[in-house]
Amino acid sequence: MRLDFYLSHVTDLARKASKIAAAKGRVTVNSEIIKKANYTVQETDIICLDGERLAWPSEGYYLVHKPAGYVCATEDAEHPIVLDLLPSHLGQSLKVVGRLDKDTTGLLLLTTDGQWLHRITSPKKACNKRYRVTLVDEIDDAALAQLEKGVLLNGESQLTLPAVAERISEKEIWLTIQEGKYHQVKRMLAAVGNKVVMLHRDQIGELMLDDALAPGEFRALTEDEVGYF
Ligand code: URA
Repeated sequence: MRLDFYLSHVTDLARKASKIAAAKGRVTVNSEIIKKANYTVQETDIICLDGERLAWPSEGYYLVHKPAGYVCATEDAEHPIVLDLLPSHLGQSLKVVGRLDKDTTGLLLLTTDGQWLHRITSPKKACNKRYRVTLVDEIDDAALAQLEKGVLLNGESQLTLPAVAERISEKEIWLTIQEGKYHQVKRMLAAVGNKVVMLHRDQIGELMLDDALAPGEFRALTEDEVGYF
C-alpha cells in the first residue's frame, strides 16, 4: 500500500496532508525517514509519525442507504458513484458487495474485506436479499407462486432458485431471492409479464437497513453485524 494512502487511513491526515507530512520527514518506516508518498509499506513494517508507532489499518465495513441516480462502479463519466457518498479517504479501497442498479435504492454494503464480500455474494452461500418491488401492473397470486417456484429469465437456460414473494398491495410485493444475477428482480418480474417501476433493497441476510439512515447516508457496521456473514 502507498505510504500516503496508508497514512490517510490510520491518521486524521487526508491524502494531501499525508504527502506533506512525509515530505517534511515526519514519517519513519523501520526507523528510516521516508519522504516519498509513493513508498510501499506493508503490514510487517514499523511505521511512525512524529515518533508515534501507527497501527496497520483494520478492514472497513460500511452500510450505505443508496439513493437513486448513483451507480455501483468505481468510476463513471456521467453519473455520481456510490463511493462519492463516503469520505474520499475511505472510498478508495472499498468494494461494493452486490451491485444495485442506478435507479434502485436501499441497503448497499461496502467493504475492504474480499473474503467477507465473497461470503455474501457467492452463489454457494445462498445469502437472502429482500426487495420491495413496485410494479406497473397488478400482480395475481399465480404470478407470486411462479416467482416462488422459479422463472426462466430471458437469455438463461435454468429456472431461478426458489424465492419468497409476499404481497404488500395490488402493485407492490416483497421479493426475497438468494441469487444476484444481472437485473435479476426486474427480469423475474418481466418473466411473469409485469414491469418494475421502483426497487428498494431493505435486507441482506439478517442485516436490515436502518430507518434512521436517510438516502445518501452511511455508517460503519458494528462487530456483531460484520459477524452475521
Ligand atoms: N435486481 C434488479 O433488477 N436490480 C437491482 O438493482 C437489484 C436486483
